[in-house]
Amino acid sequence: MPEKPFERSLPTFARPAEQTAEDAQKFLASIVEHAEDAIIGCTPDGIIESWNQAAEKLFGYCAEEIIGQNIVALAIDEAIPAVNSVIQRMKRGEAVHPFDGSGVTKDRRRIEISCSASPVKDADGKLMGVAAILRDISERKRADEARALLAAVVEFSEEGIIAVSLDKRVLSWNRGAQAIYGYAAEEIIGKPVASTIIPPERMEEYDRFFARVLAGETLVQFESERHHKDGRRVEVSLTYCPIKNPKGEVIGVSAIVRDITRAKATQQALREANENYRALIHNIPDVIWMLNSNDEVKFLSPTAERIFGYSVAECYARGISILFNSIHPDEAQQVRRMFQLFFEEGTPFDMEFRIRRKDGEWRWVHNRAIQTFEKDGLLYASGLVTDITQRKAAEESLRESEQRYRLLFERNLAGVFRCTQVGSFLDCNDAGAKILGYDSREDLIGRPAMDVFFDPADKTAADQRMAQYGTASNQELCMRRKDGSSVWIMANTTMVNGATGTEIEGTFLDITLLKQAEEQMRLAKEAAESSNRAKSEFLANMSHEIRTPMNGVIGMIDLALNTDLTPEQSDYLTTIKSSAGSLLEIINDILDFSKIEARKLELERVPFSVKEIVKTTVKEFSVQARNKQLSLQCEFSADLPDTAIGDPGRLRQILMNLVGNALKFTTQGEIMVRVQRLQDNALQFSVSDTGIGISAEKQKMIFEAFVQADTSSTRQYGGTGLGLAIVSQLVALMQGRIWLESKTGSGSTFYFTARFGLATAIPASDEIQPCEEHTTQTATRKLHILIADDNLVNLRLARSLLAKQGHSTVTVGSGREALAALKQQNFDVVLMDVQMPDMDGFETTKAIRGQERISQKHLPIVAMTAHAMIGDRERCLAAGMDSYVTKPVEAGKLFAAIADALHKDSTSNAPQSEGTPPPAHARNSIDLDR
Ligand code: ADP
Repeated sequence: MPEKPFERSLPTFARPAEQTAEDAQKFLASIVEHAEDAIIGCTPDGIIESWNQAAEKLFGYCAEEIIGQNIVALAIDEAIPAVNSVIQRMKRGEAVHPFDGSGVTKDRRRIEISCSASPVKDADGKLMGVAAILRDISERKRADEARALLAAVVEFSEEGIIAVSLDKRVLSWNRGAQAIYGYAAEEIIGKPVASTIIPPERMEEYDRFFARVLAGETLVQFESERHHKDGRRVEVSLTYCPIKNPKGEVIGVSAIVRDITRAKATQQALREANENYRALIHNIPDVIWMLNSNDEVKFLSPTAERIFGYSVAECYARGISILFNSIHPDEAQQVRRMFQLFFEEGTPFDMEFRIRRKDGEWRWVHNRAIQTFEKDGLLYASGLVTDITQRKAAEESLRESEQRYRLLFERNLAGVFRCTQVGSFLDCNDAGAKILGYDSREDLIGRPAMDVFFDPADKTAADQRMAQYGTASNQELCMRRKDGSSVWIMANTTMVNGATGTEIEGTFLDITLLKQAEEQMRLAKEAAESSNRAKSEFLANMSHEIRTPMNGVIGMIDLALNTDLTPEQSDYLTTIKSSAGSLLEIINDILDFSKIEARKLELERVPFSVKEIVKTTVKEFSVQARNKQLSLQCEFSADLPDTAIGDPGRLRQILMNLVGNALKFTTQGEIMVRVQRLQDNALQFSVSDTGIGISAEKQKMIFEAFVQADTSSTRQYGGTGLGLAIVSQLVALMQGRIWLESKTGSGSTFYFTARFGLATAIPASDEIQPCEEHTTQTATRKLHILIADDNLVNLRLARSLLAKQGHSTVTVGSGREALAALKQQNFDVVLMDVQMPDMDGFETTKAIRGQERISQKHLPIVAMTAHAMIGDRERCLAAGMDSYVTKPVEAGKLFAAIADALHKDSTSNAPQSEGTPPPAHARNSIDLDR
């Protein structure tokens, strides 16, 4: 029997005096043996010497097995160095504090132990051994770890875990809570929840729930709202349960919080997506379908009814056949075959075909499968059906209209073409090819457009028009036919988008015949116009030719009347003179009219007084008015210009006509002539009478030539019906207009406007003196005058008129005679007829002026011409004549022209002024009055 290890290994203790050493040792040994903790005795080197029951229980070794081994055998491998170091420190006499470590049992199980090692010393204080007291702390450690784990779980939980005291202050606060509410634990612990996370409107609810939890209830996952630190609302799901102390008393409330803000939003989004999806399915016009290989309809969007006419329920109930049976017989077989191939082999299914709706109507549909999948051993397919009836109808009508367009294109009588922008024919109809002389459209297509243009400039111009406006209409072009001949076409072209990009499309017509006709018409018109002009010129010439002898007649009558006559002779001559005067008036009208028609009437531009012209014109009618017992007056607005620049003679002619008519057609009452200035500086004249008036119908044509209001009036009143036509033409030449207001039986008012130049001041040259002065100037000097004229009447008339003024005259009948006479005598003035048989007035004047270049003299020459056409005056002056008078000569005009020639001579003739010039007034002031 081995020695009891316990006894052997007992350390030495100080013992109480009254106990025997053995008793005491036994007692101690028993305590050690039965102690709760493992008590192990070792040598200072760590060799185990004693081992109690608790050690055996802890490590599994019995005393016999372990005694004699080093204590490191009880340590886990990693702890061996630490155990050795404890042994060393003990050996050195250092104190070792209790420590925790890990040991290993006989069956190699790891155990957690707390260890305190004490040195065992003998009476001399020498280290005898070490007593180690070990306690199994695995359980405690596990509990600690579990607690730590729990704390970590709580701390790191995504859910907020909060403990609240009975007075509703925060006791604990994990990271989850921080994440949800924004507060860190140190910020909020100890603070009342009311001022931090509970929104005011939720306070009442919170108090209520808090009270229920205090009463022992657990509230699981209710939803509420809380306040985040940054002020926003957080939607949370909460679980409240009471916290109890070991005695079971409630000491607080715990809350588990989950942030459901996002979940809520997701839920909402999901709900909306669902609604959208539903709306989409209901509203897309296409039908979405899902079928399976069992011929079952698994899904059909509600729009199916719109296309098929069958309700969705009917389709579900009757399966695929309801759809397949409605396919048009022409397409049914093909559709079935393709659908079968799609299901069996995955061949894409995408077809257009007709179906018959439940109500019998045919519709075109486009049906295509989108995807297939397998489920529970069945094949499923889904797809889309679109109603394409309208598109098909549109396609059909497009096809028809294309067909129609093609026919229109091909059968058009006009040429129709299309070419590239650069200009090469893409298409053309036969008519177009024929117009351009090509055998067929094929012959023309592909050729460059340049081939059909004669002039490259035409093409450039056409291209520019197209580039600028995109379209060009009614272009008349001369084109080259295939054989090189020309053809006129009228083309309309426009730019279009075509297969080659921008293209030009157009139509054209052969207008060659039209062009020829147009040319013929133009020539005919020109001929007509020129013959009309010739007629007018002839009329003008004729009336001149008539005027010449007429003036001779009148002049001679005047001369005859101045001779001694019997009363009977005087009466005859007076009647002849009156008739001749009327005839002359008519001839004058015709002359004026034809001059205007031949566009040969030109207005003068001289300064004159409008007031004076009106006054003197009116005055001429005063005797006539008095005889008819009519009042004749004129009235002027205050702002009339003193001097106007224009043609006073023609203004006078207008007034003569209007006042003459007024007198002619008025038997009682008054005639009033008014002149006023308009805002635009034009003058407005009016002549009112209280005569017979003019019907509205006649008013419309009164200004046309040869029109009289009442043809019977010619018999009663005379006249040619030319007066107003001339007046209106003259008014137009004066840039004015003429109109009238009249009522049958109650008089007429003729208005006209005229535009005159306005003279600012009257310059001191005679050119701008009031024209009447020419006629009123009197000559004081007696002149020696040469008259060259082949017309005997005119010759005699002129001679008589001049002789009456006391002037001496020499008459010759030709230019040559005139030159001869000039060689023999000195003359003051020559009156030169323009048209003479051997040498006309122009030539004669030229000859005279030629000689004067040597003599340095200037002989005043007055042209006498029967031509009063535009340009005559200029031609005479250009030929070197000084002034101009129309034949038949009238006294006043003749004297004025002579005065004019003399005046010009005095102001421009240097040689004469060099000698002893007569005083200007003496040469100027010829007595031209009788
Ligand atoms: P005529 O030389 O014949 O008078 P006009 O051209 O001067 O030609 O006038 C044409 C016609 O207009 C006259 O014949 C007359 O019928 C009508 N007429 C012109 N003026 C008046 C007027 N003041 N009162 C009535 N009728 C007038």
